Amino acid sequence: MGFVPPPEWRDPEAIRAKQSELLPQAVRRAAQSPAYRKKFADAGLDPSSVRGLDDLRRLPLTTKEDLRREMPYGFLAVPLREVLRMHYSSGTTGIATAVYHTRGDLDRWAECCARGMQIVGAGPEDVFQNMMGYGLFTGGLGLHYAAERIGCMTIPAGSGNTARQVHLLRTFGVTVIHILPSYAARVLAYCREQGLDPAGDLALRTAHVGAEPHSEDTRRRIEQAFDIKVYNCFGLSEMQGPGVAMECEAQDGLHVWGDHFIVEILHPETLEPLPEGEEGELVLTTLTREAMPLLRYRTRDLTRLIPGICPCGLAHPRVARLTGRTDDMIIVKGVNIYPLQVEQVLMRVPEFGSNWQIVLETAGELDDMIVKVELRPGVGFDDMRELDALRQRVIQDLRAELLVTPKLQVLEPNALPIAEGKAQRVLDNREQPEPDEEAAGDKHGSG
Ligand code: ADP
Ligand code: ZN
Repeated sequence: MGFVPPPEWRDPEAIRAKQSELLPQAVRRAAQSPAYRKKFADAGLDPSSVRGLDDLRRLPLTTKEDLRREMPYGFLAVPLREVLRMHYSSGTTGIATAVYHTRGDLDRWAECCARGMQIVGAGPEDVFQNMMGYGLFTGGLGLHYAAERIGCMTIPAGSGNTARQVHLLRTFGVTVIHILPSYAARVLAYCREQGLDPAGDLALRTAHVGAEPHSEDTRRRIEQAFDIKVYNCFGLSEMQGPGVAMECEAQDGLHVWGDHFIVEILHPETLEPLPEGEEGELVLTTLTREAMPLLRYRTRDLTRLIPGICPCGLAHPRVARLTGRTDDMIIVKGVNIYPLQVEQVLMRVPEFGSNWQIVLETAGELDDMIVKVELRPGVGFDDMRELDALRQRVIQDLRAELLVTPKLQVLEPNALPIAEGKAQRVLDNREQPEPDEEAAGDKHGSG
């Protein structure tokens, strides 16, 4: 009855052979765009000399700055009349860029997302509520078409309006959702405020979560509270949107669909390839996209390749949970910090709820880092000394993880703002020095 993956998905050699066959075609398609014609000429590369996977490293890298420079149509590789849709990246780290889709691209995008839903058991029996924003953001439409393709009754709820979301979940016996992990925390808090049992009163079975970094402890919290399985789902507008890599039952890394994308992990500074297992920048090549093929695209996301074949048997390469983006990194008192490190410490503390924020201030010559976190609803302290002891313990754990001693503010539930879309974890109120020319325009957009 269930979904049976085709045999070639279990064979790493078959996947590599497919990539070798598709790469030269992808390069030839890319060469139809003015931007790649220029890039190939600059690199002295004859696109027809690319014969297979062994030629991958001869291709120039593509960056977000390239996309911005060539807006709106420089990377378009087909006549406009073949384009059915455009999406805009969320613009989390600066000016948004446009991505185009032919009919075939939309079809394959739905296929990639559908696979990820099917390998964890979704099918026609399921009722799927999509709680991602619809519109220019790719988060919504990606899994929407996938769910319809595999026959789920699909509820296009979109983002926000938590009361209505919960009403829909209950009324229609929703079994599968797609949701931002930060918003799942909000839905959970709402259920508790309303006296609902998020496990017993809902029929949920699985959640696909993604679009923003989150820790393993955050996943476990959502799983335990709703009594469901939570699967990580990764994607970016430039590649298509969600469904570039999705987790299987093993929950040990995300499978990147090898017949559509090539994965490389490069050292973020030297850009040298890193050995399997070492963390670096994720670089992706589209193999099948028509409207806007991208070659060796620097995602700026950090992860590592997981060696070996997955316990689920699929040979599509696996990347580990993403730890953030190179441009998420904040420098506090000269130390490099990724917001996810803070989340990892906070989400291990059962007294804390799931909403948190980092505020950076200038204090004289130094930076002040203030970590704000809410108490879980229902948690109280009779004796303030207990709360103080907890605070001291968490500050020590944060210092051990970050090598910087932050201040810690423990707040009442719902004290922190909730973002409409992706959570805004860092508020940088520091006085900024004059930006040097290279860094200008790009670095400070995510604060
Ligand atoms: P923007 O780059 O402007 O946020 P997108 O909506 O295309 O626009 O977002 C893609 C980015 O979101 C990825 O590059 C990555 O940084 C982040 N992201 C997506 N899915 C995940 C995930 N499962 N875990 C961590 N980060 C994710
Ligand atoms: Zn697997």
